[in-house]
Amino acid sequence: MRYISTRGNMEPLSFSQAVMMGLATDGGLLLPETIPSIDDKTLISWSNLNFSKLAVEIMSLYVGDDIKRVELDDLAQRSYLAFSHPLVTPLVRVGEQAIIELFHGPTAAFKDIALQWLGNLFELLLQRSDKQLNILGATSGDTGSAAIYGVRGKKRIRIFILHPLGRVSLIQERQMTTVLDPNVHNIAIRGTFDDGQRIVKEVFTDLEFKQHYNLAAINSINWARVLAQIVYYFYAWGRYTAGNISKSVNFAVPTGNFGDIFAGYMAKRMGLPINKLIIATNRNDILTRFIATGVYKVGEAQPTLSPSMDIQLASNFERYLYYLTGANPSQVKAHMNSLSSTGQLQVTAEQLAVANSDFAAVAVSDVETLAQMRFTYDKYRYILDPHTAIGVKAAQDVTDVICIATAHPAKFMESVQRAIGKKPPVPSSLQGILDREMRCTISEANSLAVKQYICDVVDGSSNLLT
Ligand SMILES: *Cc1c(COP(=O)(O)O)cnc(C)c1O
Repeated sequence: MRYISTRGNMEPLSFSQAVMMGLATDGGLLLPETIPSIDDKTLISWSNLNFSKLAVEIMSLYVGDDIKRVELDDLAQRSYLAFSHPLVTPLVRVGEQAIIELFHGPTAAFKDIALQWLGNLFELLLQRSDKQLNILGATSGDTGSAAIYGVRGKKRIRIFILHPLGRVSLIQERQMTTVLDPNVHNIAIRGTFDDGQRIVKEVFTDLEFKQHYNLAAINSINWARVLAQIVYYFYAWGRYTAGNISKSVNFAVPTGNFGDIFAGYMAKRMGLPINKLIIATNRNDILTRFIATGVYKVGEAQPTLSPSMDIQLASNFERYLYYLTGANPSQVKAHMNSLSSTGQLQVTAEQLAVANSDFAAVAVSDVETLAQMRFTYDKYRYILDPHTAIGVKAAQDVTDVICIATAHPAKFMESVQRAIGKKPPVPSSLQGILDREMRCTISEANSLAVKQYICDVVDGSSNLLT
């Protein structure tokens, strides 16, 4: 399998090149050259595989000759061993709906599924090339801890995560800063999340610096993250239908950067019987507006009770746009240019009709989110976190729907307490976290200070400024 850019100005890459590159050099996103198609017989035979085995089957279609099957086996086993539930992603019944719980990983959010695997994959590829990698990222909370847990203790990898000082939740801060492995570096900047993102962008724009320190990003545009997320759509379908090929399901997906639901779209294109993918958003509803009107128009991000979805520009949307334009890189480029110059893009009526056959979209307010949490608890004694509650609400009138649970309720203690008047049980990964030793550096919110810090750590010296 080879990988191409959504903007078309790049020679095709191998899987491992695509993973190491992250963002395509022409500014686009990487996609597989073709989408593997799964026949009914294979689908049925996959429907009772355990999560690791299923992951190997699906991933083997996308990695080409780069990674041997025994290596894939080993990667999958080690990655999902870190999950506290024996089924990795159990499917549970809550009234009329099914919920697939993706929050049994070490940081209690769905990002662990991809980042546990990506950490191990990076390690394997670096070992082969005898290289080192320095990961740099900015987080508003969840991604940072999942990325840190994905690479902690790994020999050839260092990770530098910026978070805005005093502006992440207490649990989120502790999840990051109590990881004491020597390769983990938390930097609390005196500024906002936007400052953090700006700094990371500036550091990456310094190509000499980027190359010298072999810097990599770990945000949701890495193809390997999408790939790892395809697995649970197949897994959920298999458990829900017991391999009944004539049965289609719908998925309700709490959506921010469009990474989770885009994996669902890939699963559908591979032949998984999916009827609709329901984009569930909070008040930051750019995607909901797009599905209603065909206009993708940037607004201002607003804080909500589901902070991991407080996103205006959904970075994986460009991947869908590529398929929506009939795999036409020049159209994608024109759209993305329009988006950056005018703040919006618009697809044709025919394309909008296609988008509406793949997706439905619902925006859910904070008030509705709390009401859903309360309702589900009162009726079924099941505790939803605010993100998952948005998906459950969006799916309320849909039959044969599987809702994706993206976070453990204990991560969002205050909202849960507000909704149901009690605290959820705390998973073992979060127990005692407030009492653990912490390590974190405080930095001014500018790229020079952050670069200096990276130099100090990597070189053990401070020669950048001279
Ligand atoms: C990241 C995240 C989401 C959004 O997922 P995307 O792939 O960005 O759409 C939803 N819920 C939780 C808890 C998350 O951490």
